[in-house]
Amino acid sequence: MLLDDKYRDIVVNDNLENKQKYIVGVDLGGTKIATGLFDNQGQMLSRTQRATAGLQSAEDVIATIVETIREVSGDHKIAGVGVASPGAIDSRRGMILNGINLPGWSNIPLQAELESRLGTEVKLVNDANAAAWGEFVYGAGRGSLNMIYVTFSTGIGSGLVLDGQLFLGSNSFAGELGHTVIDPHGAVCGCGRRGCWETFASGTAIGRMGQEAVAEAGGISLMSELASAEDLPVMATHVFQAAAAGDVVACDTLANVIHYTGLGLMNIIHSFNPDCIVIGGGVSRAGSAFFEPLMKQTDELVMEPYRGTFNLKPAELKDDVGVIGAAALFKDNVN
Ligand SMILES: [Zn+2]
Repeated sequence: MLLDDKYRDIVVNDNLENKQKYIVGVDLGGTKIATGLFDNQGQMLSRTQRATAGLQSAEDVIATIVETIREVSGDHKIAGVGVASPGAIDSRRGMILNGINLPGWSNIPLQAELESRLGTEVKLVNDANAAAWGEFVYGAGRGSLNMIYVTFSTGIGSGLVLDGQLFLGSNSFAGELGHTVIDPHGAVCGCGRRGCWETFASGTAIGRMGQEAVAEAGGISLMSELASAEDLPVMATHVFQAAAAGDVVACDTLANVIHYTGLGLMNIIHSFNPDCIVIGGGVSRAGSAFFEPLMKQTDELVMEPYRGTFNLKPAELKDDVGVIGAAALFKDNVN
């Protein structure tokens, strides 16, 4: 007997509701807490955020996180909550060790705190790891097996997906690729060492290289014109803009940037043999004028057997990469 259409719809919807697994992703930042509700397919169903400015204590921060989770969840039964946080995170113990500018925010057993308040499973990872996993599951790394995510902003952040799994390392500290050393006699890095990759290829480093090139050229470069029009020192964005316009000094600087970026990628490729490297941060928007020469440079730098074994791709997930990646921690059967 055929089911009445109306009845069949109820059955289908009921089955969907039972199979549907709602997950919340939380991106904890220094200035805001962003939280989203996702369905099985990774569609964001609702989103909220709170500024962290007025929060006075760790308890305030935790209470605010819980409030945002309750707000986006509404009546949905939540199967898990993923949290991405900057700084040093012990994912296996679910602890925030330290690292962001929030009141009292060190040695916080955030996973246990949230699990007891929400009555659901909670997973906690470093923000670069969340972004890496998000790109692997839903972004530019879809379909790859070994994917390295590298984001170039003020520093260099990175996360490793090896043999299809997010690789944490013994203390969840794996993947600080920005602090692999390119030149032991190089500039002092924020970590206190000299010549880390980050001092050659981060957005900050690109700006500094632009400033040095302008000084060497006696101030004659479109980079300095663009910067002074905005009342700013030369920054990475001016290097890219001036190079795109054909400014010779900027083109030389960009070639230098591409060389050092390629050196770091070479180390990654020799270490992990990835099939895909996803590049996030400001440079991911630089387009083919950056990606094509970088691909060529990197392919020339690596040892012969590695040539042609990897792709460089711009990141696909934008501002909500942390929220999406945190929720994706509950996504299984990825490939
Ligand atoms: Zn360093």
